Formats: sequence, C-alpha cells, structure tokens
Amino acid sequence: MAARDFDAIVVGASFAGLAVARQLRGHVALIDRNEVGAVQTSACGTPLWVPEALGVADSVLQVHDRLNIRTPRRTISYDLSDVPFCTFDYRGFCQGLLAQTRARFIQAGVTGFADGAVTTTDGRFTAPIVVDCSGWRGAVVRDGAHDATSGEYSFGLETHTPLADKGLWFLLDQKLIPHGLGWIFPVGVGSLIGLGSYVGRSKLRPALDRFLRDHGLAAGSYHGTYFPNRLLRATVGRVFAVGDAAGQCFPLTAEGIRPALYFGSECGRVVQRVLDGALTLDAGLVAYARLVERYRGAYRALRVVQWLATHAPTRWFAALTALAAHRPIRPHWWPRYGWFGRLDQAPTAP
Ligand SMILES: Cc1cc2nc3c(=O)[nH]c(=O)nc-3n(C[C@H](O)[C@H](O)[C@H](O)COP(=O)(O)OP(=O)(O)OC[C@H]3O[C@@H](n4cnc5c(N)ncnc54)[C@H](O)[C@@H]3O)c2cc1C
Repeated sequence: MAARDFDAIVVGASFAGLAVARQLRGHVALIDRNEVGAVQTSACGTPLWVPEALGVADSVLQVHDRLNIRTPRRTISYDLSDVPFCTFDYRGFCQGLLAQTRARFIQAGVTGFADGAVTTTDGRFTAPIVVDCSGWRGAVVRDGAHDATSGEYSFGLETHTPLADKGLWFLLDQKLIPHGLGWIFPVGVGSLIGLGSYVGRSKLRPALDRFLRDHGLAAGSYHGTYFPNRLLRATVGRVFAVGDAAGQCFPLTAEGIRPALYFGSECGRVVQRVLDGALTLDAGLVAYARLVERYRGAYRALRVVQWLATHAPTRWFAALTALAAHRPIRPHWWPRYGWFGRLDQAPTAP
C-alpha cells in the first residue's frame, strides 16, 4: 500500500471526525486543515455524561444544574440536576479523543473529491471508504458548494467575557435578536456570550456588542459560523457524512456536539464492519443511512418548535416553555432529550 493509500479517510477532526476515527482499526487517515482542537467554533455546552462517557472528563470547565430561559417579561428555570450539563475546554476534549484513535493525522485542507481520491493542499489521498466530517460546508459531500442563504443554516457568533455566573442562560428577546436567541454559558473563568440567528443572519456583531455594552462587559475575541438546522443526507454517493456535514445539529437548541459524537460513533462502527469484511461498502452505507433516518421525526419535531420560537409572539413561546418545564409534561420529553446518544466509553478499536 502506497503512503497515500488508506483503508479509510476521515475528513475533519472535530467532534464528528474524532468520534468516527476512534472506532477504527486499520490504516486510516484523519485529515483537517487545522491542528486538532485549535479552532473552537462552539460554546462547548453538553450533558456532563458526554465527556465522562468518552473518558475526557478532565476537559470539563464548569458543571450546570440549571437552565434559565429569560424573556422580556419572565424567567423560566429548568432543573437539570438529573441530567446536569457542563461546559468544556475544546482543545482538551479533542486532544483527549485524538489520543484514543489509531488514525494518522494529516494537517491539510481538503479541496475536492474525484475518482475516489481526496484532493488536498498536500496532494491526493485515496481510500475505498471516505467519511465527510468537515462541518457545515461539507468539503466532500457538497464539494464545498454550500448555500448559506438556503434557509438550511443558522448562524452563531460569540465572545468570551469576564462575567462569572452559574447555570446556562438562553435569552429570548426579539429586540436583542429577531428570529434567534442569545446565550450566556459560564466556562469556569468568565462566560461565553453569544447570539444565534435561526434564519442565518450573519451580521450579529453590532447587536452582540450592544448587549455587552448595556451590561458593562468587555469582549474578548469573537468566533462564529453557520450550523445546519435541518437533517440533510447521511450518505452522498459512496461517501458517509456525519455531524454538521449531514445536518445533524439539533434544530432549536443548536446542540450539535452530541449528535456529531453519537452518529460519528455509530458510523465508525459500521465502517469498521466494512473494513473487517463483515459488510460490503454498499450495505454499510445503507445501514448507516437507515440508522440516521430513524431520527428524522425527532428532528422534524424540533424544527416545529424552532418555527414557533421564531414566529410566535415571545410571551406565547415563553408560556409554552414554562409548561414544558413542569410535570406532567417534562418527564415525557426531558429524559429522552437529555440522554439522547448515550455513548460507550470504550472505542471499538482496542
Ligand atoms: C457560536 C456557536 C456556538 C455553538 N455552541 C454549541 C454548544 O454549546 N453545544 C453544542 O452541542 N453545539 C453547539 N454549536 C454547534 C456545534 O458547534 C456544531 O454542531 C458541531 O461543532 C459540529 O461538529 P462537527 O464535527 O460536525 O463539525 P465542526 O466542529 O465544524 O468540525 C469540522 C472540522 O472540519 C475541518 N474542516 C472543515 N473544512 C475542511 C477542509 N476543507 N479541509 C480540511 N478540514 C476541514 C474543520 O477545521 C473542523 O475541524 C455551536 C455552534 C456555533 C456556531
């Protein structure tokens, strides 16, 4: 096997790519244009059980047992103590997962995919199996030809501030951000404060700066990007897609870490079975696509609630949110949501 030929190539070494790669034995390339964990795009809020189950609990920065939803007239508080959330250090989390993989990491930008070869800024790499985990742009499955204005993408922008706080906050206020939400995620030292537009509006800096000024807060560096708000295709041709590349970020809550890790682990298991000869590639593609398809109804339901959040008057949506926070409604949906994607600690690869 030539140095540039692999059993499998995973494009993107963030949540989805690392989750796939940690399931794989064999001669696997993990390609990313950045050093692993160097470029954070997320507020890194997720249930505490996620880093614990993956063996990267030392990346946790702060644990949260309250989620507060603040609207102009009221604040609704969710008790998270049965499924506490946390915020974690992106670099520590990703480097911890990288240490669990056997893949060869190659730092290069992927520029295309043709005739079974992944073309990069470092030349061509080939493999019978390719998994696109390159985020919302889909460097392989969409050849980078995304349309951010298609309505399929939300946009988020956030900055680190010195605000010390407890609990996670979502801010629902049309004056702060129409068709979107704000958030305050304490991260041990200070908080990430951000705005997200469900309609993909990307010029959020003036509104975010205004909010920080009104609260006397200084901003650190900013980061932001698009993320999908509807489930896209899990396979395109003979390529697997995972995470934001497959539209797996949850609508409404914009939680994309858990689905990327969950579907990444499942995809990795399927790919390993193909590598072991237990499945053909075509059967593997079908098995993975079927697994993702099982969740389409849940994604649709979250999109309906996202639509209500953006179109219904805020006080109506607040009333709905308050209703959902209490018995008898909460026990019906919260455990299913909070425990979605239970992950095994041990990767398949020994
Ligand atoms: C401001 C903001 C805050 C968010 N906060 C949260 C949160 O608190 N909790 C949560 O669950 N979700 C959050 N999300 C959503 C979450 O960040 C994404 O859903 C998640 O990162 C998707 O993971 P992924 O691995 O699919 O893609 P990404 O994390 O986007 O990773 C893609 C990887 O591919 C690499 N890549 C891209 N293109 C190429 C290329 N051409 N060549 C080589 N490498 C390439 C990138 O360098 C990157 O490492 C947030 C999103 C935003 C924008």
